[in-house]
Amino acid sequence: MAYRNVVKDGDPVLRRKSRVVENFDSKLFQLLDDMAETMYREDGCGLAAVQVGVLKRVVVLDVGEGLMELINPEIISEEGEQFEEEGCLSFPGEHCKTKRPAVVKVKAQNRDGKWFIYKGTELKARCFCHEIDHLNGIIFKDRAAE
Ligand code: ZN
Repeated sequence: MAYRNVVKDGDPVLRRKSRVVENFDSKLFQLLDDMAETMYREDGCGLAAVQVGVLKRVVVLDVGEGLMELINPEIISEEGEQFEEEGCLSFPGEHCKTKRPAVVKVKAQNRDGKWFIYKGTELKARCFCHEIDHLNGIIFKDRAAE
């Protein structure tokens, strides 16, 4: 595993749309491992591949329940709303209150290409939304509640 530098505010790559992953190969596994190491070293609860400069639909997250790897994740349902402070490893020191759904269901592939459905509430719901937004070039400040 290796640490990768996190792309910071002002880098136009953060506004680009990531591509669907088609090859579940050693290159993907290396990316996933490196992203997990980077997320833990930076003390974040989620990281999207674009944040290490790779435009692939890959997310890692850990909200205190262990590492999750989400490949080609999509939100399949949303319910309710929540308004909480959010930050981002690409925007150090910046926080703002965002509007997010209270409950989300996400479908995603694992590193073997198998599809799973995950449900998130509270922090996990915010994390799912925040990271999937990154894959579409959206940043948390675009979701500011006020
Ligand atoms: Zn972020």
